[in-house]
Amino acid sequence: MKLYVFKCGTLKSQKQFFTAGIDIGKAFEVPVPFFLITHPKGYVLFDTGNALEVAKDKIKHWGEKVVSIYDPIMSEEEYVVNQLAKLNIKAEEIKHVIFSHLHLDHAGACGAFPNATYYVQKEELKHAYVHDFYQKGAYIRADFDKPDLKWYLLDGYEEDPFDLFGDGKIKIIFTPGHTPGHQCLMVDLEHSGKVFLTADSVYTEEILEKDLLPGLVYSPADTVKSIKKVKNLKNQGVKIFTGHDPDAKIKYAPEYYD
Ligand SMILES: [Zn+2]
Repeated sequence: MKLYVFKCGTLKSQKQFFTAGIDIGKAFEVPVPFFLITHPKGYVLFDTGNALEVAKDKIKHWGEKVVSIYDPIMSEEEYVVNQLAKLNIKAEEIKHVIFSHLHLDHAGACGAFPNATYYVQKEELKHAYVHDFYQKGAYIRADFDKPDLKWYLLDGYEEDPFDLFGDGKIKIIFTPGHTPGHQCLMVDLEHSGKVFLTADSVYTEEILEKDLLPGLVYSPADTVKSIKKVKNLKNQGVKIFTGHDPDAKIKYAPEYYD
């Protein structure tokens, strides 16, 4: 089993949108990651990065207000399907797509994989359609509202952890807070050991080290609980790959973890 990390460009933003109240106004450019796991039972994607449309006309697809806060720098080559093609993997071969949540920089390529089941929390899908005014701009309905999608809707703590293949190798972990239905992925690799992909539950290593609140949270209380969960895993020796850390020392594809 291999774990590949990809970068779907970056977001040019400001520090306070990642660490609440810290370094206000300071320029901060972060990677937009997504992940591929090659499991004997099929290819698994964790998140997909931005939609292809973002590389063509970001203001049209994301809207002026969002782009003024999180400006996506992305080429067409960085679109998930094009990056997978470089590894000789076709979109049709992807069987499982797990979304940490449905924000625009994570679920942009929803629907691009015709033979995939899409795993998301039931609460997240509901919130993506019927959201509060808060975070409204972060959900792009054109990305996830597509016909004939095969969804697998997870039911929060009732199905936590969710063992994808029943072999303990890939587990979905419920971590609400950033959004109502946020979830992470635990991958158990033969040589690298356990790797925890936090997505937006923990943006950066700094948040873990200094006990900071992320700049964008739906529920601060749930966010803190989820960060604690990640800290506990780190203390147990699990490798933590945070969601948007410009300083993370990560090997990107074609290199991989196994
Ligand atoms: Zn997010």
